[in-house]
Amino acid sequence: FAPWDDPDAKPLIQFKNVTKRFGDFTAIDDLTVDIFEKEFFALLGPSGCGKTTMMRMLAGFETPSDGTILLSGQDMAPVPPNQRAVNMMFQSYALFPHLSVWENIAFGLRRDKMPKDEMGARVDEMLRLTRLEKFARRKPHQISGGQRQRVALARSLAKAPKLLLLDEPLGALDKKLRQETQFELMDIQESTGTTFVIVTHDQEEAMTVASRVAVMDHGKIVQVATPDAIYEAPNSTYVADFIGDVNMITGTVRAEGAQLRMTWAEGQPEIVGETSKTFGKDQSVHFAIRPEKVSISAEKPVDAANAVQGQVLDIAYLGNISTYHVQLPGGQVIKAQTANNRRISRRSFTWEDSVWLSWTATAGVFLEQ
Ligand code: ATP
Repeated sequence: FAPWDDPDAKPLIQFKNVTKRFGDFTAIDDLTVDIFEKEFFALLGPSGCGKTTMMRMLAGFETPSDGTILLSGQDMAPVPPNQRAVNMMFQSYALFPHLSVWENIAFGLRRDKMPKDEMGARVDEMLRLTRLEKFARRKPHQISGGQRQRVALARSLAKAPKLLLLDEPLGALDKKLRQETQFELMDIQESTGTTFVIVTHDQEEAMTVASRVAVMDHGKIVQVATPDAIYEAPNSTYVADFIGDVNMITGTVRAEGAQLRMTWAEGQPEIVGETSKTFGKDQSVHFAIRPEKVSISAEKPVDAANAVQGQVLDIAYLGNISTYHVQLPGGQVIKAQTANNRRISRRSFTWEDSVWLSWTATAGVFLEQ
């Protein structure tokens, strides 16, 4: 499933040079992006970057100051919110407290004067989809938070929208339930084939559920790609930093080409790495490497493309993994992560141990900014 790689695929949603200004503040800045049918598309970014504004424009609660938004090729500007094949599920769920679960789900269908039989069948289908059959007669205060979340989801899917917008849908749930619910959301999205656009602060959540993740900064999408591409090949230090944990080393290009060499500290060996980007000699450059790509050993590894010596400063044991903070002679601290997936037969390291950190020539990426 990768319609974004197919030049013939028709996007469900197109943002074309969309700008949204509030007074003289630009919340969305000349943004262009396509979202495809059946995608689970995540908008990720710090508070105030414009995620909710994008959703509100899709729903029709805000109109772009410039540019166009198309749904199935049709300009949405003249279409009022209630006539769009779009629904939005709010973080607060906004359930009616005095109505039963069944009536909450039926609400929009009743308002649309759907025939009784059809409505009954549709609500029952939604109850099955969200595993709420047993709770149909209860009121919202008689069910759990996770169940309320599912009622809100069932209600927003009842009218079979082409596009469902989810603004922090799991924000009210605790971590464990949140993780379980992420998988339920993915199942429901897949079985209904509805396009989902989700806003979340939680990068792990975005990585888990999304077909593609759009990372936003100040009203722009700075990278849009599959979760693994965003993680393995971030296009800027901003994205590398925003997603997951990263070591960032700043230096200067010494030798260009597919094998780039970067100097970065007095007395330290050059960092050697492969790159498909072009950098100029003497250009300032950043090297980004994920902690789990850095190996830690007592002896200097033979044949490693990169090896530096340092001293263990801190160790965080997290059960499945351990993270070592290792200080290099110049003062830079590098994080190295090891998987604790076998009984520790090798020597493990302790505070102030002298250790070697090493990584391959393809373990990290060079970034301009
Ligand atoms: P959060 O994660 O905190 O919800 P967000 O990325 O969803 O943030 P938006 O709610 O889209 O951000 O807001 C983007 C910017 O636009 C913010 O600086 C916000 O203050 C501003 N903004 C949003 N709506 C309005 C409005 N109606 N009038 C003026 N400014 C607004």
